[in-house]
Amino acid sequence: MPSADLIITNARLLTMNKAAMRAESLAIAGNRILAVGSNADMKALKGSHTRVIDAQMNTVMPGIVESHIHLFGGAVELDSLMINNIKGFPAVSAAIRRYAGANPKDRIIIVNGAAPVSLGNNTAITRQILDTIIADRPLALICFDHHTVWANTKALEAGGLLHGASLTPGNEIVMGSDGLATGELREAAAFAPLLNLTATGGREWLGMVTGENPVPPATAAERLIDQNFMKRGLDYCASLGITSIHNMDGNWYQLELLKALMDKDELIARVEVPFHQKNFFETSRVDEAVEMRAQYQGDMLHSGRVKIFMDGVLESMTALMLEDYPGFQGERGAPLFTAKQFNEVATRADRHGLQISVHAIGDGGVRRTLDGYEAARKANGPRDSRHRIEHIELIDKADIPRLKQLGVIASLQPIVGLGVPGNPQEPCRSRIGDKLPQAYAWQTLRETGATVAFSSDWPVSPLDPFLGIQSAMTSVPLSPESRPQAQSLMDALDSFTAAGAYTEFAEAKKGKLMPGMLADVIILNGNIEATPAAQMSTLKPVLTICDGRVTFER
Ligand SMILES: [Zn+2]
Repeated sequence: MPSADLIITNARLLTMNKAAMRAESLAIAGNRILAVGSNADMKALKGSHTRVIDAQMNTVMPGIVESHIHLFGGAVELDSLMINNIKGFPAVSAAIRRYAGANPKDRIIIVNGAAPVSLGNNTAITRQILDTIIADRPLALICFDHHTVWANTKALEAGGLLHGASLTPGNEIVMGSDGLATGELREAAAFAPLLNLTATGGREWLGMVTGENPVPPATAAERLIDQNFMKRGLDYCASLGITSIHNMDGNWYQLELLKALMDKDELIARVEVPFHQKNFFETSRVDEAVEMRAQYQGDMLHSGRVKIFMDGVLESMTALMLEDYPGFQGERGAPLFTAKQFNEVATRADRHGLQISVHAIGDGGVRRTLDGYEAARKANGPRDSRHRIEHIELIDKADIPRLKQLGVIASLQPIVGLGVPGNPQEPCRSRIGDKLPQAYAWQTLRETGATVAFSSDWPVSPLDPFLGIQSAMTSVPLSPESRPQAQSLMDALDSFTAAGAYTEFAEAKKGKLMPGMLADVIILNGNIEATPAAQMSTLKPVLTICDGRVTFER
């Protein structure tokens, strides 16, 4: 046997390999795990060049597989004004004025982490009230869910939105009784014109909003700006123990940025990038995903998935429901694909052997997605397709067993669960009404035997996977009729590691600590099995290793 480059000893190793869950030491050679075993086992593998790290009886586990983030957008937001922890008009307006004063050259003042109640529980966010904060420069508040933006009058003018505009289905410029926009812009096509005014020209949104590349193509200088943002995002991921990323938006441009980082040896986490099929694309455009897969299939950077939005979110009642929203007769949300259109796309993508992942939040969106996967299976025959549904905040009882039956992966974000202590209850609780027992049904889905992968949806929610684990473990039932949906520690860990690897067809390569697997390993600052569920977010990686190299060290 060759000697190891790195040995971690005195560890509480959680291998996430159910056949041999615990060990105390691990050796790495090159980018692979060489051995897993006892401290004594590793002695023979120590050579003159071997770095030995004493884990001091803390937890060592596989690197986190983050199954749903928006890397580019999240990275750009690291620099912006965040108001998620600021509440009320006086505090928010002061923060915005301060930020605007410190950034006099910004063509638009972008504020992230906003919510409908940011200016107070009874203060609607309108262009007029935003004008009282800043009237002479464009100002836009982006809702934390990234599905709504509120703009002042200058911003609406700059974006050509003040008098409304015709948009693709599912997007809306809310108009007031005065015939002018109120300032509320729903869904990406409605607010995209404002994002073009940012330092990155809104390029971080393209993979999400249009699925297209920058037009005109980004200059070398712009590419460098964007690469540096990506790099910052990757550093942030590494600091939280993340070694693999399933990016949820994508285009050729993002693949090129990441490839450029890889060529400079600066791609410090594995990234999977999808092709984003928009509802206004011809069905045949999905074939582009085949080309992406052909060009990008390495362990560090790969493609081969189609991302689709089926619906919106509960808050703005754009999530597609099977029945009317409680108290809103005739309102069932806004599907972004007709059933026929989605079935065609799903069948075509599936025929190419592509994986499909669909954002579906309402029970109607989830059903339409499952129906499409079923149609694809009927047309093309069953295969190990591992199609995914993202979010599943509400699912009809009849659809719960269908994920397992169709081999569909539930890609869930525990951090947004309504049962998580401290999370705001409204407006989601009212939108769900008496269907609370079928909402955020993580454990119910798990018990059907479906694969459950966990993630954050950063920058929609904080990226920290240990906060995600805490959320998963501490969720309380939503109603007396609701079954407990809290997760065990081992299930939560599995969903952030091995299940994530399975989700990207990489279970033979990563997600577990076993000899021969890729060396993606983290050492924590504590013993996770002895940490109370409510304190999981106090855990942090002290060392992150991706592909055999240290990508973060505290
Ligand atoms: Zn997302």
